[in-house]
Amino acid sequence: MDFRMTSQQIELKMRARAWTEAMYAFEQDCEENNGLTPAQHAKVKQLVLDHDLAAVNMPRQLGGPSPSVTDQAIVSEEIGRLTGALWDTAWRPANALRACTPQQWEEYGLPEVLGDRRSAVSITEPNVGSDARHIATTAVKDGDSYIVNGEKIFVTLGDIADFIITLCSVDGAPTMFLIDRDTPGVEVKRVPRFTHSFVYEHPEFIFTDVRVPADKMLGEVGQGFELTRDWFVEERIMIGARTLGAADRATRLATDWAREREQFGSRLINFQLIQDLLARNAADILTNRAFVYQIAWEADHGLDRKALHAKAAVIKLSASEASNRCLDNAVQVFGGRGYMRENPVERLWREVRVDRIWEGTSEIQKLIIGNEFAKRGSSGLLDYAGAGEVR
Ligand SMILES: Cc1cc2nc3c(=O)[nH]c(=O)nc-3n(C[C@H](O)[C@H](O)[C@H](O)COP(=O)(O)OP(=O)(O)OC[C@H]3O[C@@H](n4cnc5c(N)ncnc54)[C@H](O)[C@@H]3O)c2cc1C
Repeated sequence: MDFRMTSQQIELKMRARAWTEAMYAFEQDCEENNGLTPAQHAKVKQLVLDHDLAAVNMPRQLGGPSPSVTDQAIVSEEIGRLTGALWDTAWRPANALRACTPQQWEEYGLPEVLGDRRSAVSITEPNVGSDARHIATTAVKDGDSYIVNGEKIFVTLGDIADFIITLCSVDGAPTMFLIDRDTPGVEVKRVPRFTHSFVYEHPEFIFTDVRVPADKMLGEVGQGFELTRDWFVEERIMIGARTLGAADRATRLATDWAREREQFGSRLINFQLIQDLLARNAADILTNRAFVYQIAWEADHGLDRKALHAKAAVIKLSASEASNRCLDNAVQVFGGRGYMRENPVERLWREVRVDRIWEGTSEIQKLIIGNEFAKRGSSGLLDYAGAGEVR
């Protein structure tokens, strides 16, 4: 087995790290102002372009080769060190856009890859969360258009997106539409505050008699869940990588602090109870990191979709829970200073909490894993694709 990164991957990692380090300068402002100014956003966008980190998950032309999942994970781990969700400023379009028609690609896909447009993905509704089977937002055919009515909540990026990839029900069939934000009838209902300070908002939207041309349907009628599932699979692996980046940064900061700070006439690092916190972090980070890259490798080497769906759920569950534990331990090592918003460890601690909730809660990941065992037995999940026929 060869665990080494290729020279291109090392270059990618260094580039992602250089961008992340340049972005640290924006963290405090983002925290204090719950976001960035337009001038700061413009600078950040230029930094993303300069470091060639735009849309690292998307092909450059429709139907072109998709970037490797392993490369994406390398970037996600590096940028996951940032607070304020500044990692999200390195735009990562929903991979459902790979289903664009050539015309849609020209109008939506390519401009988003280039950074000229930005999308939000809206699935969740007031009565539809973990169980997306009963989407109440309807799209009813009317001549060459569909008329969309409904309400969507938690629309991350809804404040800056100029189109919203929206899951609707077409006669009961889950179907995606590309809805321009400025279409008459699309309104922001309210913009709630959340536990984290996030560089973008998560507004709630109301769609009232929104006329959407039929050629803005993404994929086919009934393909909505399939497109959503493909998005979740990649995003869950990236959540694993990103939250480990957060845990890694916090653990390094906590270690430095423990080696420097003295109490009871000794450095904190000499107290075995402090060593216990850091040792558990090391175990959580190193085991989950190895696992993230294993699954990313399997994804790149043709692991079948169902097994990959279940393994991505294991990563999401394991790494997001592990990172939450690590961040909590890191705060503890800092004592009162770990509870101050000016400390990146405090911000990361607050921010990784949502990683146990969005893109499917921890409970839902367990259900996916349990269903895989129930439906197909243990092989798909427990086999290692890299072992060939032996497994
Ligand atoms: C900050 C933030 C940003 C978000 N961004 C987006 C976005 O951009 N687009 C989007 O569409 N959505 C977004 N979401 C929504 C997110 O994906 C949902 O919150 C999540 O899927 C859970 O749905 P819910 O909140 O309705 O909880 P519910 O589904 O009501 O679940 C509540 C609790 O019950 C548990 N539960 C539910 N069903 C079961 C079961 N069968 N067995 C055991 N336990 C169960 C859950 O695990 C959870 O603990 C965002 C959420 C947040 C907080």
